[in-house]
Amino acid sequence: MSAIDEIKERLDIVDVVSDYVTLQKSGHNFKALCPFHTEKTPSFFVFPERGTWHCFGSCGTGGDIFSFMMKQESIDFGAALRILAERAGVTLVAKQKERAIDKEVERLYSINEAAAQYYHHLLLNARAAETARRHLSERGISKETIDSFELGFSPDSWDAVCQHLEGRGYKGDELVNAGLVIAKEGGGFRDMFRNRLMIPIRNDGGKVVGFGARALDGTTPKYLNSSQTAIFDKSGLLYGIDRAKGAIREHGLAIIVEGYMDVLAAHQYGMTNVVAPMGTSLTQKQVGIIKRLTRNLALALDADAAGDQATLRGLELARQVFSERIAAMPDWLGATSKLQGNLKVILLPRGKDPDEVIRECPEEWLRLIDEASPLMDYFFKAVTSTLDLSHEDGKSAAVAQLLPRISEIADSVERELYLRRLSQLVGVDEKTLAGKAARLKPTARERAKKAVSLPTTQASSHPLEEYCLALLLQHPGLRERGMALPTDYFEGTENRELFLAWQNTTDADGFERIRQGLDVSLQEHLDALMSRVIPPASEREMETALDDCTRRLGEQHLRRLKALEELLLSEAESEGDKNVIKEQVETLLQKALEPTTQLKDLFEKARRERKGARQ
Ligand SMILES: [Zn+2]
Repeated sequence: MSAIDEIKERLDIVDVVSDYVTLQKSGHNFKALCPFHTEKTPSFFVFPERGTWHCFGSCGTGGDIFSFMMKQESIDFGAALRILAERAGVTLVAKQKERAIDKEVERLYSINEAAAQYYHHLLLNARAAETARRHLSERGISKETIDSFELGFSPDSWDAVCQHLEGRGYKGDELVNAGLVIAKEGGGFRDMFRNRLMIPIRNDGGKVVGFGARALDGTTPKYLNSSQTAIFDKSGLLYGIDRAKGAIREHGLAIIVEGYMDVLAAHQYGMTNVVAPMGTSLTQKQVGIIKRLTRNLALALDADAAGDQATLRGLELARQVFSERIAAMPDWLGATSKLQGNLKVILLPRGKDPDEVIRECPEEWLRLIDEASPLMDYFFKAVTSTLDLSHEDGKSAAVAQLLPRISEIADSVERELYLRRLSQLVGVDEKTLAGKAARLKPTARERAKKAVSLPTTQASSHPLEEYCLALLLQHPGLRERGMALPTDYFEGTENRELFLAWQNTTDADGFERIRQGLDVSLQEHLDALMSRVIPPASEREMETALDDCTRRLGEQHLRRLKALEELLLSEAESEGDKNVIKEQVETLLQKALEPTTQLKDLFEKARRERKGARQ
């Protein structure tokens, strides 16, 4: 739970407001003369159950405890947060600790960057780096690529990098934390990487977080990575992602290759949508990174490894993560089947790495990408090549391995196609197979259902507001549409503040600017929204998602106003001064509704259309 939510939960809005305003009970709620404008009849209401307040007088505004404190004390969100946190007994110390961690992380980045520069300098200039330079030239890596990827060389020395970085003011212990040196048992330090080609690994923000290091003298292991540090987590990094992300978005396709050299070659030849996992098979986190950029993923597989069980398991994992998370798109965006991830396999010629194929003939590489086979075709090939289909055992094994995968295909036409193919393959009637598949189906459906409910199960008092903000923040293309959203739609002050900050930045790289202008607690909220996984979809689908989201927010807002209207009317009944209040209700509600009237028409139109489409 965030500090913001915890404060909201612990504090009673009635207590807080009572410090400034004399409240009278009114049914379940409280009313008072508005503290923000001068009036004779009370039009300021506090709703303890919702934790909100609203003024029906000339202010016409409302919100939660945070916005009340901000208005009452004329302070910003951060100041209101600190006052209320103290009152609620919620310590914001954790946030300070976080800031200290941020500092440590910054230090690690700068150590790694300094090391990368040092290694790069050596590769270009040191006589000892001759083998490394020759190795690169034999692999066809150009000077430009060496420079732009900042490739380097670690000398065959026990303390070269340690000495160099200590000379730059970094302490031995810090270098240990950065994974560049190792503490010796009897005291002192020694370099981790010696006589290796150094490949700086950058995170998606372009910061050096560690190194991949290739042996130049036959030492094992051939590749050595930085050990795990606070900023280097192999399972969550993709080599080349900092340069590839734009191209992946643009082409709508991410290509996964196996090694660093493959990435370098591809980028050198202008095929920049290529990344590599860090020497392991693809992890869930890595697939997650890609899925924020595209829903089309192609894995380049060496023909030698293509049939083996480890490869199949890796592909199965990628398939599951890819389709599951895609199904996590909130259901109001439309059928999840439309968003099914598209996973293909690029089969390389036997014994060849992508980097060789690309260097020898870039056109051949492009052809292989074009001819990439859908994952299901690949499964068919892989399964059938290892089984003897002339025997019953082989046939039932093929059904056991393929049918569950087929039954999970969301597209019905495609599903039938593969059922037919399986039926021909094993000589079992298509209907029998379909029946079997249908019995398997509930599990798949259940899984999808669970995934769909993911975004709403996160503890949040305003899930829809947050989803809407995440859409706007992560998709600059939605700016124009998003600008039209009324601020009132955001009831949570933290969300309203972020929305306002977003509205007030217009430049393309506005995100950092939004962030810098915010209180630390809101930065935390912003980061959470930025890192929320919104599965990729086309521009058009994103627009539809935002429109639906806007409609729903509008409906929520209308419902809130409607509840207020009822409240005021019952108030009018119980008071003698019926006419005055009734009049007040009408004019004020009219005012409050104005910006939403148009939207209301829109909702009704959309609803009619949806109804029409269903019939
Ligand atoms: Zn007022």
